[in-house]
Amino acid sequence: MNKKTIRIHGEQTEKGWTCPVCGSSDIIGHGKQHNIDHHRRFKCEDCGKTFNEKIGTIFYHKKMPRDTIITIIYLFLTGYPASNMPPLVQVTEKSIRNLLREVVGRFEKYEEFISDPDDYAPKVIEIDEIYIKIQGSREFYGWLAYDPENKYLIDFVVGKRDDETLEELFKKLEGYKGKVGLVLIDAYIGYVKFVEKYLADGEEKPLTGVINKSEYSETEGFVTYALFSGKRESIEAKISSLGLGKKITTALIECLNSQIRDLCNYIRRRSKRIPRLLSWGEKAVSCFKFMHNYLKAHLTLSGKSSKNWITVPVTPCMKAGICDHQISLIEILNFRFIAPTPK
Ligand SMILES: [Zn+2]
Repeated sequence: MNKKTIRIHGEQTEKGWTCPVCGSSDIIGHGKQHNIDHHRRFKCEDCGKTFNEKIGTIFYHKKMPRDTIITIIYLFLTGYPASNMPPLVQVTEKSIRNLLREVVGRFEKYEEFISDPDDYAPKVIEIDEIYIKIQGSREFYGWLAYDPENKYLIDFVVGKRDDETLEELFKKLEGYKGKVGLVLIDAYIGYVKFVEKYLADGEEKPLTGVINKSEYSETEGFVTYALFSGKRESIEAKISSLGLGKKITTALIECLNSQIRDLCNYIRRRSKRIPRLLSWGEKAVSCFKFMHNYLKAHLTLSGKSSKNWITVPVTPCMKAGICDHQISLIEILNFRFIAPTPK
């Protein structure tokens, strides 16, 4: 993994702190913050800037105590509606939403920071519809791109169930053009042109299996065919070679889709009362994606005891080679992002 080398100011290095404004290492102690957590303060001898030890983290310049911040984020990650939080944490809904907005931004920035496009390309992309219910019975759809080999949620889009929304997802997958060995889609007609446009490398089109999940027969399994003059057998062979099963049967579909389905049910369940606005539904999915990929050990990837408890945690990101360890929520909240560079 190539961790990008960036210059981080306001960081505590082995040599001590550096100034977030001018980068100077001429830093002296400056007492303690008069906030509830009493953060240590520092002053730059060169430019006079003062800052505290939480600079660059989610806890910097927050009036809320650290425990409240963690509680709000944890509740949101586990599906608790932001609108129900104020009496519980004694913070206004506005402050809660401001914090959560910042957290979603932080997750996205962290992903950008940690993942190198050269490190990862999915061998298989499965694309499935997601369905999000918004307050007031407005329904929104979206699509998920999923890597069944690594159980990694590649990306998602939320919007209308139309080609425009679907194309947004394919645009996000364009970086994998020519690298994907197999694409699995359902019978929605819009996929074909986008697979060609965004994933095919010239004349080289990825093997693409269409699995019609609404038609199933005892003898044939799901109605399946290959696009771009491929053969059904070649798709089954590819699936088998990737260790994802042997045939396009119920078992395989279960294997490929149980994760997505669980995830969608989860999103549906947890988003039912959260989003008054679509943007909050999107934030909920975004947080879920981050939690699923980075924070939560995956049961089928991890080492387990005889009681099926996870003993060696492995997250989808670890399996995909994007991240070398299971990330904790505290780690990401404490992560110091680049402070302003000196002028
Ligand atoms: Zn300075």
